[in-house]
Formats: sequence, C-alpha cells, structure tokens
Amino acid sequence: MALYAELHRHLGGSVVPRIFWRYLVRNEHPLAERYPEYEAFEEFFTRPRASLTKYLEMHTLVEQVQSLENLPYFVSKLVRGAYVFESIGYLELRHTPYLRTDPALSEPDRIAQMREVVEVIGVSARVPDYPLVLRQILCMHSRLPYETNRAMVDLAASLPEYVCGVDLAGPDALYEERIGEFVDLYQYARSLGLRTTGHVFETANGCHPELLPYLDRIGHGIQIPLRHPELLPQLAERDQCLEICPTTYLKTGTLQSLSDLRLVFERCRAAGVSVTINTDNAGLHNVRLPWEYENLLTQDVIDFGQLRVCQDAAFRYAFAWPHALPPRAMLPTGQ
Ligand SMILES: [Zn+2]
Repeated sequence: MALYAELHRHLGGSVVPRIFWRYLVRNEHPLAERYPEYEAFEEFFTRPRASLTKYLEMHTLVEQVQSLENLPYFVSKLVRGAYVFESIGYLELRHTPYLRTDPALSEPDRIAQMREVVEVIGVSARVPDYPLVLRQILCMHSRLPYETNRAMVDLAASLPEYVCGVDLAGPDALYEERIGEFVDLYQYARSLGLRTTGHVFETANGCHPELLPYLDRIGHGIQIPLRHPELLPQLAERDQCLEICPTTYLKTGTLQSLSDLRLVFERCRAAGVSVTINTDNAGLHNVRLPWEYENLLTQDVIDFGQLRVCQDAAFRYAFAWPHALPPRAMLPTGQ
C-alpha cells in the first residue's frame, strides 16, 4: 500500500458530511431538523461559497460542535478514514485550539483550557489499529487578539510531543492592518524553535510579502506564481514549498477551473520551488487526498512524474518526519 503525507488539513473541515450529519441527528442538533434528509445536508455543506470569508463560516459551524468532550469521537474517525481510505501515513492536522474551548469560561480559563484541547486531540489520534503519525499545527487566527495568538505559540512550543508547528489562518482580508503583529508572532515562534507555515497569497487579498521570510512553508501561496512570479527565486533560495489545496480554490471562487493551476506547477518547477498537494478540508469538500491527485491527473494539470515529485516533497517538507516518534501503541512493551 502506498503511503502518503498530508501537510495541510484543518480539523474543522475534516469531518466527512455523512459522519457529521449522523452526529447531528443523534444529538438532535437544530441543523439536523433543518436537514432531515442527508442529501440536502450534503448539498448545503459542500456547495461552493462566494468568498474565502463566507467559506470559513462553515468552519465556525463545525468548531461549535467539536467541543472538548466530542473531540475524541471526531479525531478517531478522522484517523481511521485517513489511514484506510486515503493511505495517509503522516498527517499534519491544523486547528485553533482557542476556538474549541468552552465559551462560558473566562478568557484566562479559556486560554488555560487550550492545553487540554491539544492533549485530547493528541491522545485520541493514537489509534492502535490505524497507526498513522499525526502531529498538530496550531493556527493563530486573524480574528483573535495578539495575547491569545501569543499564548497559542507558547503552547505549541511546550508540547513538542503533539505539536510540530504554527500557522496563521482566518479571513485574510483582516491581515493588512495587523501585519506588524503577525511578523512579531512569527519571530517569537521561530525564537522558540517552532516550524512555521501561514495562509498567505491564497487570494488576491492575502498577498503579504512581509510575512514570507518567517515561513518554512507557504499555505497555498498560489498567487505567487500566478500574480507575483518575481518572488519565486526568493522562495527557491529559502527552500520554501507551497502547500497547494486544489479543490479549495473552486469552493472559495478563487479559481474558475483546476486547469488554472497548470501555470502554478509550471512556474514553480521552472523556478525550482517545490509543491505539495493537500486537501485543506477533505470533509467539507467531500474530496479525499487520492481524489485530489486523480483530479489533477485526469484534468491534465500535471502528469504522473510530477505527481510523484509532489508526493515525495510532502515527506521532505514535513515538520516532523522522519524524526517523529511512532505512536506509543506501536512501540514494543517496556519503552
Ligand atoms: Zn487552509
């Protein structure tokens, strides 16, 4: 069985619609009353949105359901599906722990509870029958205050057993006025020895070259080869790869067709910049990793040779591979 590495997947978008719907029905959630038939729910859940900001509202919906007590259920299902149906052997799962804390708590208590969120996810991801290596990336968020984002960086550095890096997520229209803060947070993360990625150059709103020097990898970054190819040599020099998530661009209206990505792959290859292929939100899109590969091949965006290069790059740019410890369940007794 071929094993793949996935570097860009959000916990909030990782639940496939049928599992999410069944969960809502069992728990008599208002959404299940609105969509008593599964097909209508799937249509609502997976339909394209008008913008990245609208698209991210679906994350908010899932985050509210993925509270601390429900996380083991969702994470164990995610690990099982990724291993069995996607042949994923290494997965970096990203999320904003603050958004899964109890909103009834005070601010300091919510910040303190973030540690429990990360630990619960880390423990729930160790499923002996499905031994993929899962590490978390903690996402700073453009809607959260500086102090909360800084607390997430501290938390990431204090839990290397579970966390392999930090990211910046949320609506990119909000980056502009706070760019100095994010530079500061990335510098701080790197001073603690953390690996970094960030959602930048995903849409025309999110083109912030000031952030690029602080990133090990670039979350999406498709607008660099498409609109700012002059930046590609800097990426090659810093050995930064792009984390491309093909289906996302159709769901957010960023691209009209997957064939628009042909230029991205061609320009990156010419400039010596590596590209990895990821799902972003496999559940929300209802498109698993092997389908992302297959869609690019059948629509003639890349050929098999390029696909292999991208699949190898995913392991090479992974933040915790091959140094990641195997899950405890795989170690011989006594260790
Ligand atoms: Zn993303």
